[in-house]
Amino acid sequence: MSFAWSYSALSLYKTCPRKYWAEKVAKVVPFKSNDAAEYGKMVHKKFENYLMKGSPLPLDLKHHEKVLKKLRDATGEGMPEQKLALTEDLEPTGYFDKDVWFRCVIDYAKVNDGRALVVDHKTGRRYDDFLQLELSAIALHTYLPDVEQFTLAYYWTKDKKITPQPLSTADFPRVWAKVHPVLDRIENSYATDSWPLKQNFLCEKYCGYKDCPYNGK
Ligand code: SF4
Repeated sequence: MSFAWSYSALSLYKTCPRKYWAEKVAKVVPFKSNDAAEYGKMVHKKFENYLMKGSPLPLDLKHHEKVLKKLRDATGEGMPEQKLALTEDLEPTGYFDKDVWFRCVIDYAKVNDGRALVVDHKTGRRYDDFLQLELSAIALHTYLPDVEQFTLAYYWTKDKKITPQPLSTADFPRVWAKVHPVLDRIENSYATDSWPLKQNFLCEKYCGYKDCPYNGK
């Protein structure tokens, strides 16, 4: 395959192939942050500093301390903010190396005796899809092959709830079975330069590709 991907790139393509093209291939849509994204970045940084260095949380995030302390104090080696990258042969590689095929960022992992807790902090709307964390577990296993059992957990900051789900290496083929059909479609889009429009909930207000007839801006 001639492209590198991540969970968010996969999601973007599934949402609308043309939006994927506009942002990642033609790059005709300049990156534009927004208040929610900036807030998410700030929260991730403060959580990382707390988990890694024990830095105090600011007052407006103090109410997360109970949950974060539990994560920090659990038995095992804590690993905040891990940027992991794999080659197409599923070997570890550098995040920006030429042979990178898949990239992910793990907000927090706690590794203990062949098991890992893999956490992603979510400051936005809640959803039930664990694919992002499943892919993170696959990447972590590539770096730490002795780790074969995982607890995946989203931490939803708006309601201070953790949603956990178990995963083992035996589940990895099921994860790949969800991903490969989408990767095949992306590869076909690159090969044929075909990027269909797919009208969706983002068209009205949240798509930067203004040449599209569905764009509501
Ligand atoms: S406006 Fe909608 S259909 Fe058009 S490119 Fe954007 S997301 Fe796709």
